Amino acid sequence: MRALNPHSSCTKEITLSKIARRKFLQLSAVAAAGCFVQPGREAHASDLPQLSEDDPMAQAMKYTHDASTVDPATRNNPAADQTCANCALAQGEGDWLPCQIFPGKAVAAAGWCSVWAPKA
Ligand code: SF4
Repeated sequence: MRALNPHSSCTKEITLSKIARRKFLQLSAVAAAGCFVQPGREAHASDLPQLSEDDPMAQAMKYTHDASTVDPATRNNPAADQTCANCALAQGEGDWLPCQIFPGKAVAAAGWCSVWAPKA
């Protein structure tokens, strides 16, 4: 006789709830970052200090200067090459880029964080 597990469906609901909450928080961060963008003035990376991986916000977003060090299984999208250079939230070109998520700081073009989004 097979025993019933009264908690199996409950566990699934909690997992889905955590995923939805994580996605909501990421999208909220993107929306909030958009509020800091100043129309008419494009930031230049050379004007900005480089974002530290030790920055609390960077750590919260799992930012790294080297995207190749990130386990692909932990990424939200299956794309093999997600970097700041091809992220919709980065601006301009070069080795260091202004990013809407980290206003006032420059991120590494080869970097990555958990908010990465494809350019349209
Ligand atoms: Fe910014 Fe995108 Fe790089 Fe994240 S992946 S730090 S959002 S440019």
